[in-house]
Amino acid sequence: MSSLFTHVFIPVAILLIFSKELKFDPRNILILSFFALLPDADAIFLPHRAMLHNILMIVIPFLLFILVKSKREIFSIIFFFLASHLLLDLFDGGIFLFYPFYDSVFFARVELLFTMETIKPVLDYGISDQIMNNGRGEPMISSENIVVAFLLMVFSVLVIILRKMKRTSQT
Ligand SMILES: [Zn+2]
Repeated sequence: MSSLFTHVFIPVAILLIFSKELKFDPRNILILSFFALLPDADAIFLPHRAMLHNILMIVIPFLLFILVKSKREIFSIIFFFLASHLLLDLFDGGIFLFYPFYDSVFFARVELLFTMETIKPVLDYGISDQIMNNGRGEPMISSENIVVAFLLMVFSVLVIILRKMKRTSQT
């Protein structure tokens, strides 16, 4: 799936769905959503998926979350966006997880391949000297993405209508 969609739209949708339970302000989720794409800014450096795709990207917001008690909401949203980015890339070609201390790519791949007669599970993981697939040539937003976005939007509107109906029936 394309990077804009998997890295931004899906994590934003997850946080918005649970924003009430997590006590996150939806405005903060939207404002901070650029953190979900921030790691890909390292594409201007070589190797890609190293400088901003390593463990420090999760450790720093986690430490800030612990140390700065008044900004816990902000740092947990940032942590979620960065961690989801790294996790998604780990399963999509791999990342330089311990850069600059350890100069190798950690990757994982879990797939179900359907051929004419069989279903073939693929499980592959390990350490490599290069990224398996860098997502080049994929569209920013594919037509498959549009359909998922449409379904999520329909679902969100339904939830809003149901909540409104519930509130009016209570009064
Ligand atoms: Zn990335």
